[in-house]
Amino acid sequence: MDVKYLKGIGEKRAGLLGKLGLFTCGDLVEYYPRAYEDRTVYKKLSELEPGNAVCVRATVAQPVTHSFVRQGLDLYKTAVFDESGMMRLTFFNAPYVQDSLIQGESYVFFGRVTGTALSPELNNPVFEPEGKQGRVTGRILPKYPSTAGCPQSLLRNAVEQALEKLPDSMPDTLPEDVRRERGLCHLGFAARNIHFPQTWDALEVARRRLVFEELLTLQLGLVRLKSRSLRAGGRRLQKVDLSDFYSLLGFELTDGQKAAIADAERDMCSGRLMGRLVQGDVGSGKTAVAAACALMAIRGGCQVALMAPTEILAEQHAQSLAPLMTRLGVDVRLLTGRMTAAQKKAVRLSLASGEAGLCIGTHALLSEGVGFQDLGLIIMDEQHRFGVRQRAGLSEKSEGPPPHRLILSATPIPRTLSLTLFGDLDVTVMRGLPPGRKPVKTYVVDEAYRVRIENFVRKQVGLGRQVYCICPLIDEPADEFADPSAPTGAAAVDKYARRLREEVFPELRVGLVHGRMKGKDKEAAMRSFARGETDILVATTVIEVGVDVPNASLIIVENAERFGLSQLHQLRGRVGRGVHESYCVLFLQTSNETSEKRMEIMRSSNDGFAIAEADLDLRGPGDFFGDRQHGLPVFKLADLSGDTGLVREARETAASILASDPELSLPAHRALAGRVDRLMENMGRD
Ligand code: ADP
Ligand code: MG
Repeated sequence: MDVKYLKGIGEKRAGLLGKLGLFTCGDLVEYYPRAYEDRTVYKKLSELEPGNAVCVRATVAQPVTHSFVRQGLDLYKTAVFDESGMMRLTFFNAPYVQDSLIQGESYVFFGRVTGTALSPELNNPVFEPEGKQGRVTGRILPKYPSTAGCPQSLLRNAVEQALEKLPDSMPDTLPEDVRRERGLCHLGFAARNIHFPQTWDALEVARRRLVFEELLTLQLGLVRLKSRSLRAGGRRLQKVDLSDFYSLLGFELTDGQKAAIADAERDMCSGRLMGRLVQGDVGSGKTAVAAACALMAIRGGCQVALMAPTEILAEQHAQSLAPLMTRLGVDVRLLTGRMTAAQKKAVRLSLASGEAGLCIGTHALLSEGVGFQDLGLIIMDEQHRFGVRQRAGLSEKSEGPPPHRLILSATPIPRTLSLTLFGDLDVTVMRGLPPGRKPVKTYVVDEAYRVRIENFVRKQVGLGRQVYCICPLIDEPADEFADPSAPTGAAAVDKYARRLREEVFPELRVGLVHGRMKGKDKEAAMRSFARGETDILVATTVIEVGVDVPNASLIIVENAERFGLSQLHQLRGRVGRGVHESYCVLFLQTSNETSEKRMEIMRSSNDGFAIAEADLDLRGPGDFFGDRQHGLPVFKLADLSGDTGLVREARETAASILASDPELSLPAHRALAGRVDRLMENMGRD
């Protein structure tokens, strides 16, 4: 059923929901909260601590007053009291409170405490008359992911109605024997309690069941992919001598590099199809591993495609690999969207004829009708921009024996997670860095250091260096109690860049790149920074993946607490790539015990894997990868850090289901099969 037929939701509100991808009641039921608010615990006014969200029972002390602040901001104020103290209330743009809060009457309020413990305030609290609580106070309420413009109240109302429409005896996606064996509740209970939990225990039961289903679906998909590619078989290469390559490299390979190359060689010479993920920290030397494997395949008589997530990265690879490979007799080509039609045509011809041995490009390489004479190996650099679907698609493409696949990733993923995310691949973890690296000096600071840091930026630029300033892309205000007129999303980043350009560093050249810009503009901004034409690059995490600007010596991260530690580590890897002493400054906007511990890890460690494991331990529930721009499988609920036990159980169940029903064609598995197909479909989208 279309959401627009729900009570109180017409075309306009349906449009808002549509922006969040919510078109049907089914979508709503599966739009899971990202957090919950406990509005069941009441506090006295004398017990309030700033920063906490609380429920209070209080009586209105005076009529609501109105004041106009500026265009778009009207304030409505009053004060309330209970037997223990007083509190002020402020509402933004809420004329209705003048009628609904009556002097002398008692209400239950819920909101986040601001002000001080002695003089507490609530901004924009929700409220119900005392004795009538139960809708917006006095219960556990869901908080949904939302962009500005789609209020929580609308989402809650829509979801609540959608849930009422669920049939009482709803069919369950999980076969009954699986539910019994794993002690999982019925889907109907889970759906209701994940949104509006009766108790915290009920929520946990619901969550466990839904997470299990999500993980099981993924595991079924991955195990099926893997068994298909195993059955397919791969071309068997012969071992070749690479000693000329090693002596041209100019350095001794690290043990990690040697082991990774040996793993890939074993795969490619086994007669099986290689699907291998090599994980190595930023700067661990994955390019040399890629080059060795490429050469193996080329000397084995086939062609190799090396794909990077962006055109700039592809160009950088071509620059660093072409001289070396050419000396070894390999014909290296670069294919990017920036080239002229004639240039592209020449490259295509050389690939089709088999003349070119190694072709470097973005993933467009495989989509834009590029035909290889005999593609034997595909190398994907910085894999996390490629979904599982693309991984699967690659081997289905060519007619002859499918190409081997080598995937390089700098995202350090703890083992339990990589089993989940890359269950269709074999994994090599490449530990250690080449000798002689200077670690990036890391500082964690707060606003008090702003001016000092700004001076430090000037000093670095004065020395001829360049600087990154990273801002999170914040789409929603911190919560519904925040100032609604503050800019969010791309606008906030634009504003930040404008401030630097116009007020803070008018004498410097400030560039801007964020994920909402057009691909062409993004590339242009990055390129001009890479050429040294801008001094400061304001960026969102789009730069996280591998751009190499050796002249950049300082990276400043705003709101560092909002990032996953692995992400911060990747960001930090953007500096310290040249000969210059390099620095990373992490600005903390809000700080608490966990964020301080997390930052301490950043300060004291330079090992991406250690950082990832520590973050996993510390954060518990939370999104390990920070935001979701990664193209990694997106879970609606599962939290790969907290749910490792369930990951294992799901993998076991997946194996036993597929052992009895490899194509999931039994009636008991039909609903699951549908889920698996849908998930695989979704993963392909970036
Ligand atoms: P990443 O793993 O981040 O892709 P790169 O392959 O770009 O790292 O390597 C980073 C730098 O380290 C390059 O300049 C490369 O030449 C150098 N390098 C790679 N392997 C070694 C090694 N074994 N010894 C010394 N330097 C190395
Ligand atoms: Mg790299």
